[in-house]
Amino acid sequence: MSNNKGVLYIVATPLGNLGDMSPRAVEVLSNVQLIAAEDTRHSAPLLRHFGIRTPLSALHEHNERAACAALLQRLAAGASVALISDAGTPLVNDPGYHLVSAARAHGIRVVPIPGPCALIAALSAAGLPSDRFVFEGFLPARRAARVSHLETLRDESRTLIFYEAPHRVLDCVTDMAQVFGAERRAVIARELTKVFETIHDDTLAGLGDWLRADAHRQKGEFVILLQGNILEPAGQTDDEARRILRILTKELPVGQAAALAAQITGLKKNALYNMALSEKNAKT
Ligand code: SAM
Repeated sequence: MSNNKGVLYIVATPLGNLGDMSPRAVEVLSNVQLIAAEDTRHSAPLLRHFGIRTPLSALHEHNERAACAALLQRLAAGASVALISDAGTPLVNDPGYHLVSAARAHGIRVVPIPGPCALIAALSAAGLPSDRFVFEGFLPARRAARVSHLETLRDESRTLIFYEAPHRVLDCVTDMAQVFGAERRAVIARELTKVFETIHDDTLAGLGDWLRADAHRQKGEFVILLQGNILEPAGQTDDEARRILRILTKELPVGQAAALAAQITGLKKNALYNMALSEKNAKT
């Protein structure tokens, strides 16, 4: 895009390990005219560590719309601006959506500088199906609302990913066991990239016991990942679907086999796809 407007860079920063700051992030943050940060006091030490002296302004959830107008003016006048959040990728459960959508609507070029993101780091190491997944962010804080939201996800066949606060992680896993069943597999990814990084997989019931066994396990930052529902809806037998998939996957790629099996059984293609993959992985 060749106009005289500035560029808005969306820059990912470390989740906790400074070694994850990319050289490109340092270069961009050093060269823009202004850095919009979720919390300027939080980001100042990070920027100092990398010798970045660019002026900072605040853009957080309480001032995003007002701050947005001022930043758009600077961008329209040709200044380049970088957006960072406290940790990880801006806009992923962090401020920035209004700024990015307004910038794009005003014809301003928006350039991502990719890097750390807790949900992607957790998914990459969890060992759950990763070809299709759903990011649900934070669940409602109140139990009734949390349970009713979880119930809307009961039949979701893709891997589910949640962020959770430490003081709610046990309640959340307990509610998940109630809604999805104690035997559903799940993973807790805690303190990723930091000294006490822990990635623990078990059934939901097992994860509850594991959290209760040591209070330290409930401290820090958490991603919870849940295997999707790979079982059949009521009335269909799992065994039959597996039998059909076994025959089809001998002759066809997994995607095609799942599509045909979906037509034969009336089950969801995603669920069959995941079932075929887990059978395949179990064999290898
Ligand atoms: N923008 C961030 C990202 O790219 O992941 C997420 C920001 S959100 C406000 C903060 C939540 O992300 C935390 O409560 C936790 O659920 C998750 N999170 C952030 N850092 C983490 C880490 N090091 N380990 C595990 N989860 C983390």
